[in-house]
Amino acid sequence: MTAQIIDGKVIAAKVREEVKAEVAKMVAAGKPAPGLATVLVGSRVDSATYVRSKQKACSELGIESYGHDLAEDVSQEEVEALVKQLSADPKVNGILVQLPLPSHLNEEAVLQSIALNKDVDGFHPVNIGRLAQKGREPMFVPCTPYGCIYLLEQAGVKIEGANAVVLGRSNIVGMPAALLLIGKNATVTVCHSRTRDLAGVVRTADILIAAIGKTEMVRGDWIKPGAAVIDVGINSKPDPTREKGYRLVGDVNYDEAKEVAGYITPVPGGVGPMTIAMLMKNTLRAAQIQNP
Ligand code: NDP
Repeated sequence: MTAQIIDGKVIAAKVREEVKAEVAKMVAAGKPAPGLATVLVGSRVDSATYVRSKQKACSELGIESYGHDLAEDVSQEEVEALVKQLSADPKVNGILVQLPLPSHLNEEAVLQSIALNKDVDGFHPVNIGRLAQKGREPMFVPCTPYGCIYLLEQAGVKIEGANAVVLGRSNIVGMPAALLLIGKNATVTVCHSRTRDLAGVVRTADILIAAIGKTEMVRGDWIKPGAAVIDVGINSKPDPTREKGYRLVGDVNYDEAKEVAGYITPVPGGVGPMTIAMLMKNTLRAAQIQNP
């Protein structure tokens, strides 16, 4: 069997087009364009790159972006004061605090100072708590897990009743992905670094979401024939044939897995483009809630 490729680039482009059209409609109706504030602390190159990509996406879709770059040694009080000021600013509909924060800062307290109706990253403790509770809805769903579920749904994969295995239990990917799958009536197993017989557990999965950050760790013979495989991992693998000397690969050995799986996302071009697309979708929704 050769898997159907779930093309995240195409699906993300469609989401972005839909957001762009809705933004244009809002503006044509005399409403303000949605606004997204980004808060970047310190000088991590990867974080700065992610924030720039998010700002670029905003400008392509007609969303205003307001960048706030803070020094590495900024105090807890200063970060919280900025987030509270943005929470009260009517031009700002969504607030994104780029994680991870430097270790001297209390991440949970910063996230808690974001107004709930502007929490477009979905990491406010109340939003995560609601995601974990039966019959309650978060205002916003974290973007990468939201993208994973969106890809499954767009590919027509049946989630209800499926055995789903999530590799990884991080706050930003693994755990919210597992909670979303439970909310959609899958039977979910969450694996982590202390899981015994990982391969055996993965073999039970009708749906696999891999988010461990380990280069091509999941092998083809771990995959149940016909399974849907969503590979969140982004790892660089040495490749002397490339100018940069490396290429990006996932947590799943793609060449092996695509011969067994029913559906699979490539890396790059799978989950990656969805994260920003879902952030744009959440920002539009925030603006629609705040300016009905
Ligand atoms: P974290 O490092 O926060 O979490 C990794 C998780 O994987 C942990 O729960 C850890 O277990 C588990 N794990 C690590 N090693 C193993 C192992 N050998 N066997 C089983 N479980 C293991 O990573 P993130 O969740 O932030 O990111 C995961 C991957 O997804 C990374 O490659 C990252 O680059 C990528 N990513 C991609 C995004 C996108 O837009 N496509 C967005 C965010 C992340 P334990 O809890 O026991 O330590």
